[in-house]
Formats: sequence, C-alpha cells, structure tokens
Amino acid sequence: MPPAPAPPRSSAGTKFRRALLLRCPRCGSSGILATWFRLADHCPNCGLALERGEASDFWIGAYVFNLAIGELLAIGVPIVWVILAWPNPPWNSVEVLAAVLCVLLPIVFFPFSRTLWLAWDLSFRPSEPGDRGLANS
Ligand SMILES: [Zn+2]
Repeated sequence: MPPAPAPPRSSAGTKFRRALLLRCPRCGSSGILATWFRLADHCPNCGLALERGEASDFWIGAYVFNLAIGELLAIGVPIVWVILAWPNPPWNSVEVLAAVLCVLLPIVFFPFSRTLWLAWDLSFRPSEPGDRGLANS
C-alpha cells in the first residue's frame, strides 16, 4: 500500500498550537499519545514517525523544553506571588508552592514538551514524502 500523501505544510504557529493541544503538529490529528509518558510510534492519521531519527537522542530537545519551561514556571509563579504580597509575603506557603511546582510541573508538562519539540523539529526539518520512520526513510 503506498504511503498516504503528506498533509499540506503549515506555519510554525499552527504546528505549535497543535502541539499545545497534544495533537500531531503536522496534520492536527489526535491520538498520538500512547500513554501520558509515551507517544505512539506514528501519527494515526498522517503516518508521521513521531520519533524522527537520531534514535535515543531525539528527545533531548523535549527534555530541555520540559526542564526550562517547567522550572521557569516553578520559580516564576512564587516570585510573582512574593512581589504581589510584598511587604508581608506568606513565606511558608510560597516555599511549599515552589517545592510542589518543581516536582509536579515536569510531570504535567511531559507530553507537551514532546509535542512542542516535535513541532520545533518539524519547523526546521519539514517532513518529506515518505517520512514515515527510520525503517522506511
Ligand atoms: Zn499527523
């Protein structure tokens, strides 16, 4: 069976919007998450290989997205709280919130970091006809 034709190219903004909705950045289809911590091998609609090469190194960019954005929010939200509550910030509550955010945000943000990394990768290295994974590329 010949591969399905690739969907029309979309802008980087469209790819990132789709990624934030946990959809395939290339075609916008849902169903690319196998579990919260694992993507399916291919998009069920367009067949895009969701791990696009470099074997185990591919997701290092997603790790950086997750660490940078998750920890930026985990530090930024308590700082904003302290600024808004100044001169008497509730230090104990701020410390608890910062600790909880540092642990939870990377877990909550995990699939988003992967779809965002995929959108980033597709923006700089667009898919080509036949881009269906390492076995067929
Ligand atoms: Zn797709």
